[in-house]
Amino acid sequence: MNNLKENLDNVRARIAAACSAAGRAPGEVALLAVSKKHTAGKIRDLHALGQRSFGENYVQEALAKQAKLQGLDIEWHFIGPLQSNKTREAAGHFDWVQSADREKIVRRLSAQRPAELPAMNVCIEVNIDREPQKSGVLPEDTAALAHLVQELPRIRLRGLMAIPKMADDVHDPGDSYRRMQQLYGALLEEGIEMDTLSMGMSADLESAIAHGSTMVRVGTDLLGPRPAAGTK
Ligand SMILES: *Cc1c(COP(=O)(O)O)cnc(C)c1O
Repeated sequence: MNNLKENLDNVRARIAAACSAAGRAPGEVALLAVSKKHTAGKIRDLHALGQRSFGENYVQEALAKQAKLQGLDIEWHFIGPLQSNKTREAAGHFDWVQSADREKIVRRLSAQRPAELPAMNVCIEVNIDREPQKSGVLPEDTAALAHLVQELPRIRLRGLMAIPKMADDVHDPGDSYRRMQQLYGALLEEGIEMDTLSMGMSADLESAIAHGSTMVRVGTDLLGPRPAAGTK
């Protein structure tokens, strides 16, 4: 718990410092706690410290934790690759899907969002570095998918999400973030309404905030290293 509080304070301080360095108000950047592979108990503890938004990558794992955390006012974000056979469960159990990356997925989310729930918040995941193994729509196809999300009922376009290529000797993720900022700006200029640019993780949230991120998704630096499979 103490550890969690220290982690949360540190991450909040990093966000505030990055905002200040970028001449932005600290309230412009939301913090999503990425809880994949961590227990429901840890989510409960972080929630008790004031964190309200949590991101999960695997539908089945998330549903099991949600069942244990019923009654808590948590905003659930789905941020992992979404297969079409999982859209119904995602549509029924999340407040946001940040990883929408193709027509079939957004049409299914729209059709399957339960009538008694508010519209599903949707971000389009962009494969900004054109990595073949990664999900996400290519930058040049993003506008068309954004228009479709805007037209479909029961889902609401909130913005774009990206996971940049990992840093190495030649690649600086800041370059990916800069291109995401340009793409986001271009779509806004085209008249597409959005308020969310979801990018930045534990290692590089400062760089993402410098390039206009409005939501950082932090796992390791909040909750610690993810337990390896089978060691829960
Ligand atoms: C795991 C994950 C994160 C968090 O990564 P950390 O490096 O642990 O902060 C953020 N976004 C997505 C999509 C993830 O899958």
